[in-house]
Amino acid sequence: MRRGRVYLVGAGPGDPGLLTLRGREALRRAEVVIHDHLVHPRVLDHAPPDAERVAMGKIGHAHQHSQEEINRALIEAARAGRTVVRLKGGDPAIFGRLGQEAGALARAGIPFEIVPGVTAASGAAAYAGFPLTDRACSPSVTLVTGHRRSDGGDGPAIDWDALARAGGTLVVYMGVRRLPEMARALVQGGRAPDTPVALVRRATFPDQAVVTGTLADIADRVREAGAGAPALVVVGAVVRLRETLSWLDRNPLWGKRILVTRAAHQAGELSALLRERWAEPVELPLIELRPCGHTSGVETALRRLFAYDWVVFSSVNAVRFTFERLGALGLDARAFGAARVCAVGAKTAEALERRGIRPDVVPARYVAEALVEALASRAELRGATVLIPRAREAREVIPAELERMGARVEVLPIYENVRPALHPPEGLEALRDANLDMITLASSSAARNYVEVCREVGADPGRVPCAVIGPATRRTADALGLPVAVMPERYTLRDLVDAMEAYFAARPDR
Ligand code: SAH
Repeated sequence: MRRGRVYLVGAGPGDPGLLTLRGREALRRAEVVIHDHLVHPRVLDHAPPDAERVAMGKIGHAHQHSQEEINRALIEAARAGRTVVRLKGGDPAIFGRLGQEAGALARAGIPFEIVPGVTAASGAAAYAGFPLTDRACSPSVTLVTGHRRSDGGDGPAIDWDALARAGGTLVVYMGVRRLPEMARALVQGGRAPDTPVALVRRATFPDQAVVTGTLADIADRVREAGAGAPALVVVGAVVRLRETLSWLDRNPLWGKRILVTRAAHQAGELSALLRERWAEPVELPLIELRPCGHTSGVETALRRLFAYDWVVFSSVNAVRFTFERLGALGLDARAFGAARVCAVGAKTAEALERRGIRPDVVPARYVAEALVEALASRAELRGATVLIPRAREAREVIPAELERMGARVEVLPIYENVRPALHPPEGLEALRDANLDMITLASSSAARNYVEVCREVGADPGRVPCAVIGPATRRTADALGLPVAVMPERYTLRDLVDAMEAYFAARPDR
């Protein structure tokens, strides 16, 4: 029988980008993932879709599992010949019960590997902007748990006097509840009451919060700020370096919750661009693209692609649906024969090139005049036959302009956009709870559906400022009474994100 194996993997402190490459490899091989409650869903996404996912943790959750239950689950899955990933927050070797879990595996004779992770202390230091040690002010760092009773409970006691005397940097895990007690103990042990202290809550998450003070006042400040777990307490002069080193909160989009309303298969690109600038995208697809119904008309046109003088693509989606249909007919790029191909915009050109077609013409700007000019510069338009595969609800400007120049234009609706039936609950909740900072709208249909969905969930569509991709969407949004705050000069996603960043940079209070 195949032998199972357990990977004990550190998932990092929160930000899913802080998983190691080796951790990702282990997840890709996993058949079962037994994970802590806190682990980010995007880390779990690295496991195959059909891998079993089980939430099992010890600390800070309503439903707790005993260490025995967890050990048994790991051993049973491995004995059944499965590849198991035990995914733990931060680093499994730091307050991660590695001794108990790996110990049980060793005793049971199950092969295992340990994959380290970024521990919360490293994550907090990096993302809050201070070092843990420093040539000038801290020659040592001590990691300690604040969870243990001062008499030691079931393990060795913590000697707070000795920690106070040791100086350097002290990082307390699980210490929020006992913070007042700890701060007093350190001062009694001889640490100066004005020693800087930071509490870093949800380090490396988009809602990371930092409360700073001194040993004398940190307990009060934390109580006022209402900062709860999971949080780390960092004691020592290094904390002061934050004043010059903090970088995350200087990103204007940092922590802003932005609704991404593009179709599900396209949302990822905008979400990734937003995350790159430290915003928090919330996905709620408001449109869905699907192939158009009139199969026979489409089929006739596609089988005769070679017979047109020009085929014009004005979007990546038009390319995608055309090639999907061609594929369904058993055809490929050769169907174009010697027809000339025009792509509006660089992205559309790329989409064609990926499918083996190098466009003859790529007008730089998405306006009808630029397109007509570009086509006319290559060949006589009078009498030329032009096929435009595109969305059912596209505008008439381009065909009208081409016809004015004497071309014989055939518009081929190849896809249409509809409102998707299903919404992910996080997106709908965000709308309902009104905890969004901006709505992105990349099409008129998205704008219309946004207003509709707001009505349905009882949200006010006028409350959150909107960022629109271009003038057509802007006109629709204006007509619907939406508060349009952002429109980029060039109509690409990257420009949209730049414009949003500029908007928030001009409003540092928000
Ligand atoms: N193995 C983990 C620690 C587990 S103990 C690691 O290496 O990070 C759980 C404690 O870790 C929490 O009570 C909290 O003190 C700290 N912690 C974990 N994630 C954190 C985060 N994102 N921000 C702040 N503290 C965190």
